[in-house]
Amino acid sequence: MKILIKNKDVNEALKEVSNLGFIPTMGSLHKGHEYLIKQSKKKCNQTIVSIFINPTQFNNKKDYLSYPKNLKKDLNILKKLKVNYVYIPNKKDVYSFKRKKSIVLKKENRVLCAKFRKGHFEGVIDVMDRLTSIIRPNKIFMGEKDYQQLMLVKKFIEKKYKTKIVSCKTIRNKDKLALSSRNHLLNKQDLIKASKIAIELFNLKKFLKNKKKTKTLLQKKLKLLKKNFDVKIDYLEIRKKDNLKSSSNIKNSKIFIAYFINKVRLIDNF
Ligand code: AMP
Repeated sequence: MKILIKNKDVNEALKEVSNLGFIPTMGSLHKGHEYLIKQSKKKCNQTIVSIFINPTQFNNKKDYLSYPKNLKKDLNILKKLKVNYVYIPNKKDVYSFKRKKSIVLKKENRVLCAKFRKGHFEGVIDVMDRLTSIIRPNKIFMGEKDYQQLMLVKKFIEKKYKTKIVSCKTIRNKDKLALSSRNHLLNKQDLIKASKIAIELFNLKKFLKNKKKTKTLLQKKLKLLKKNFDVKIDYLEIRKKDNLKSSSNIKNSKIFIAYFINKVRLIDNF
């Protein structure tokens, strides 16, 4: 496994590589990341994983500073998975060139996390553009766990590059909680709470099948979750899978949630 730091090392190492799979991450790797890597290994000749906590996508400095870091453990995981390359760039190398055109989300895209985390997706798209232009992968593997991110990045990258975005299912623990690096910031009780909320939403999805008054039912569930679990909820909404437009029918749609346990913001979709 080759560790690459400088952009020129990336260019040199990847010069002759064809059918390259890329998994961008912010580290603190878990089985969700591992699944993306395994998909890349299945579908591509070589696989590169990046570990970069991108400062520009954090709308809150404290959140950025407290983001979990486990580089040593991450490298062990990647070695075991027989990843070909790990790219661990410095901030100044990723941001060495200036954008010609700044990234502005369309009004219709300013929903869910885009509404609550100002500048977040602009930062994500910017860094994905930069990483893609440095690495030039054939495929990028991304998780449905971050569904809105996946949709926005896919639209931008596939329009600008030949690279294809491959979407991968959400990996959960045995209690239905979606794996996330942010789970490291939760204690045992909080993790149990987060699992219970995930189970509630799985059941809600089943319950909403063929129901008409979904908006009212969702409002009821929102109140109940707040009361029973003492969580702050940014949103609990049903939106269409293909364009994230608001929907009152669960068919071809998903339930999206973002909520806080203490100061930790968690997102999921069902
Ligand atoms: P992150 O390190 O959180 O920026 O995530 C890197 C990539 O892993 C993104 O494409 C995420 O959507 C994906 N990912 C994170 N958690 C999971 C999960 N539980 N299952 C599948 N993919 C995930």
